[in-house]
Amino acid sequence: MAQPKYLSGDKAAIDEFLSRFDVFLFDCDGVLWSGDYLFEKVPETIEMLRSKGKQLVFVTNNSTKSRQDYKKKFDKLGIPAKVEEVFGSSYSAAVYIARILKLPAPKNKVFVLGETGIEQELDSEGVSYIGGTDPAFRRDIEPEDFTNIANGSALDPDVGIVLSGLDFHVNYLKMATAFQYLQRGALFLATNTDSTLPMAQSFFPGAGSAGAGLVKAIGREPLSLGKPSQAMMDAVEGKFQFDRSRTCMIGDRLNTDIQFGIDGKLGGTLAVLTGVSKKEEFLAEGAPTVPTAYVNALGDLMG
Ligand code: PLP
Ligand code: CA
Repeated sequence: MAQPKYLSGDKAAIDEFLSRFDVFLFDCDGVLWSGDYLFEKVPETIEMLRSKGKQLVFVTNNSTKSRQDYKKKFDKLGIPAKVEEVFGSSYSAAVYIARILKLPAPKNKVFVLGETGIEQELDSEGVSYIGGTDPAFRRDIEPEDFTNIANGSALDPDVGIVLSGLDFHVNYLKMATAFQYLQRGALFLATNTDSTLPMAQSFFPGAGSAGAGLVKAIGREPLSLGKPSQAMMDAVEGKFQFDRSRTCMIGDRLNTDIQFGIDGKLGGTLAVLTGVSKKEEFLAEGAPTVPTAYVNALGDLMG
């Protein structure tokens, strides 16, 4: 496989690379910022790409935030962006459920494992749900729950989908309830399956790890609507209609962002080294996921 081209400090190579694309799909955390820390020259780089007439889409796996939440974060950090340019994994899941799956009523309700980001996006697409942040599910499991969940009396007969995202309040009551719906034939979806999430110079368990108990119990994987799943690429393309050969995915994580671009047969991928993956991982002989090019930081595209 061709070695990725190192672009930092090489103005001619940067210009040539940027000229190959009309659309840039941006990962967020690890590319634009880390937590609440904005990387250097990010707003300027975004402005520079816009001034060249490039179309930008911000594609994040973070399901805990809605597009509106993300817009607030962009505003707070001073990055110019419109809410319509944000495409999160919660929104991706909501669009998939409402516009692609279109399960017939009444069996079209969703049982949510996750936070308000998922709830807001399901609301925005008119999808009904239970679970999520409802306090009725944020409590210890009681002896009567075991009986009522098992015999179905504590279950909603309209639930036809279990949607698993990062839930900061994972508990046995929700897990047992979700498992029961899955055993009764509910579809199994996930906003994303990231093993870890970066936090304060360290890592915490990601959505895929928080939901792993359920996967083990039911013995099958969910359909993920986050990177690198092509279900997300199809959803992004359905909304923005771009020429894949003239589109570049920019990301910090090889097994989500860069793989997402490669599997989607995009014209190119650009790895930045301000996040999860290290250059040794893609420069190694036989590396499974190799970007087209890489920079130390996004701001290096300013030349
Ligand atoms: N999931 C959660 C809950 C996160 O907090 C993050 C990063 O902040 C991610 C996933 C990864 O997001 P991204 O795809 O923007 O790197
Ligand atoms: Ca990232």
